[in-house]
Amino acid sequence: MNHASILIIYTGGTIGMKEDPMDGTLKPFDFSQIMAEVPELNKFAVRIDSYTFDPLIDSSDVEPSLWIALAQLISERYEDYDGFVILHGTDTMAYSASTLSFMLEGLTKPVVFTGSQLPIGVPRTDGKENLISAVEIAAAKDETGHASVPEVCIFFDSKLLRGNRSTKYSAEAFNAFASPNCPPLAEAGINIRYNTDLIRKPIYWDAQLRVQTHLDTRVAILKVHPGMTPQVMRSVVCDPLTRAVILETYGSGNALSKDWFVDIIREANDMGKILLNVTQCKSGTVNMNLYATGATLKNAGVLSGMDITTEAALGKLFCLMGRSEDNTRVKALLEKDLCGEISK
Ligand code: ASP
Repeated sequence: MNHASILIIYTGGTIGMKEDPMDGTLKPFDFSQIMAEVPELNKFAVRIDSYTFDPLIDSSDVEPSLWIALAQLISERYEDYDGFVILHGTDTMAYSASTLSFMLEGLTKPVVFTGSQLPIGVPRTDGKENLISAVEIAAAKDETGHASVPEVCIFFDSKLLRGNRSTKYSAEAFNAFASPNCPPLAEAGINIRYNTDLIRKPIYWDAQLRVQTHLDTRVAILKVHPGMTPQVMRSVVCDPLTRAVILETYGSGNALSKDWFVDIIREANDMGKILLNVTQCKSGTVNMNLYATGATLKNAGVLSGMDITTEAALGKLFCLMGRSEDNTRVKALLEKDLCGEISK
């Protein structure tokens, strides 16, 4: 029998932590102990190898260099495995999954991020069930023998979410991630039910994986808020060191209609910056044609992020800007759906 093979990549996070008896804080432990903690994994008809990052990190310390290392590792081991499971802290998991979805072009195999709210070593852990289901999904094949989910995704608390649609939603609940603008790609109950109509399939199953390893991180995020001053806004939006600004606006893409606000936007646009409008709302979309304030932004050169998450907008900008110095080209691709990150 031909067993599927999975590479589990352990980057750190709560899932692999245990209590330090000296001071009671949570510290990462060796990955071999995870296999010991989850003997159920050995019962799968799946060959499982593991790779542990050194150092292991709390995901609050994630930098683009980790994404590059992850993408390179997947590329180097791509032919050896049917799927990849990445154990990652929950805090920045949505950022990592989003960015990897843009970095791994021509993906034909599953890359499933998971983690947990409680360490795998404690009795009520959610880590075991998350890890076991993530492995099962990464190994799953459809009736044609191809990967059931050839996407970068997040498995958490019985739901498989598209990575670049996900956001960390709860600091406490096991149900920690949400994907408000895109239904789950699969749900795990007695069986794992795949939402096959939603899952993206490659045009060519024999496509070569292309990995983008250059990211341009000159992006700032400004959350528009009542009481924002022109000084604060200008220092973020017109900083000469930023190439793009994500404006987190109200509702369907609205912001202040005050002259100083629009003047600063125009100033940044004249400086050649890429300005992207993303809503602060968890669900729904930017529509700059709905209200006068939105239309003013559009006329001042701001692009619509539609229903993209801030996490995905950041990763998309890092990748597109890493690919091209030409802002016109980046802007044209920003408004296109590249890998399921915006609704058509
Ligand atoms: N701070 C941890 C991390 O993101 C939290 C977690 O793993 O859930 O690495």
